[in-house]
Amino acid sequence: ALPTRTKVKVTAMPGDGIGPEVMKATQTVLAAAGAQVEWEEALAGAEAFRRGISTGAPQETLDSIARNGVALKGPLETPVGHGEKSANVALRKTFEMYGNVRPVRELPGIRTPFSGRGIDFVVVRENVEDVYAGIEHMQTPGVAQCLKIITEVGCERIVRLAAAVAEAEGRKKVTVATKANIMKLTEGMLKRVGEAVLKDHPSLAHEHMIVDNCAHQMVIRPEQFDVTVMTNMNGDILSDLAAGLVGGLGVAPSANLGDEAAMFEAVHGSAPQIAGKGIANPTALLLSALMMLRHIGDFATARRIEHALYVTLEEGRDLTGDIARDGEGVPTAQYVDRIIANLG
Ligand code: ATP
Ligand code: MG
Repeated sequence: ALPTRTKVKVTAMPGDGIGPEVMKATQTVLAAAGAQVEWEEALAGAEAFRRGISTGAPQETLDSIARNGVALKGPLETPVGHGEKSANVALRKTFEMYGNVRPVRELPGIRTPFSGRGIDFVVVRENVEDVYAGIEHMQTPGVAQCLKIITEVGCERIVRLAAAVAEAEGRKKVTVATKANIMKLTEGMLKRVGEAVLKDHPSLAHEHMIVDNCAHQMVIRPEQFDVTVMTNMNGDILSDLAAGLVGGLGVAPSANLGDEAAMFEAVHGSAPQIAGKGIANPTALLLSALMMLRHIGDFATARRIEHALYVTLEEGRDLTGDIARDGEGVPTAQYVDRIIANLG
């Protein structure tokens, strides 16, 4: 008899809007490819808030993620009038997922003003510190202040994560992008810690770039980047810019990484205008699921699905409306069938 591989349990949070549709599409492709994943479905987002759970993520969901250590997540909404903190923030904080990793890679068949230049880099964004701690107050009625918190521990772990990503993917260079010329203590800390940490990685080239120049360079010569690492707000802005270079929201995957859990999700939101119509593009969540498969060590299945996806995009038949070349989109399910047919 063939040896049976044990399945890896993964928490699946379908989420809101188009979430359940792109989650089902993604799970269908993974099942067809024989991914050894056992899904544990969990509630998070709008429905949780409506049930009176103030964090948007019930305890069962948190327990599931804690047990499994790996999650795939659809977009989560905070419905108006239900608490002011998003379920996304609650999940990130609960599991201290300090690293947001966003690959930025040109896809076959997705035409952009940058097509053909071989864009292939990773943005590593610190995800729990900086001005996003949300510590704001009015100093006087006309003067507002927001605190920017940057710690040495936070800088060290995010640069170590960037180096680990670079090494795991056989990449050559880490660019630390900061505003250290103006904020010498906070942004300067990432620059300084970056220099120290990357000394331990002599096989990786290391450069520092002022973040505004980095934004300029990403547009002028994006192919120069390999792995970039930034504080939270700079990374927020530049990772969205970077997603735009290679086709935008419908195709941008991400990972939230911490010491206790890894959570993979599309960059896009719940897109309520197209929810329930069966026309959403599941590519971003599928690419996120490929990052997840690699995280759990199933490189072969990830490669096989990636190949089928690339063939599908390259052929240009049966694509969803947002990426269809002739503007004539097909339903999500038909796109999924085409990818599965291309699994070979
Ligand atoms: P949220 O408030 O949850 O962010 P949103 O409407 O802003 O929801 P986004 O994901 O930010 O949703 O997307 C903005 C627009 O981009 C959507 O209205 C939709 O037209 C398009 N879009 C985003 N993701 C997809 C997708 N996966 N498939 C097709 N279109 C998408
Ligand atoms: Mg949005």
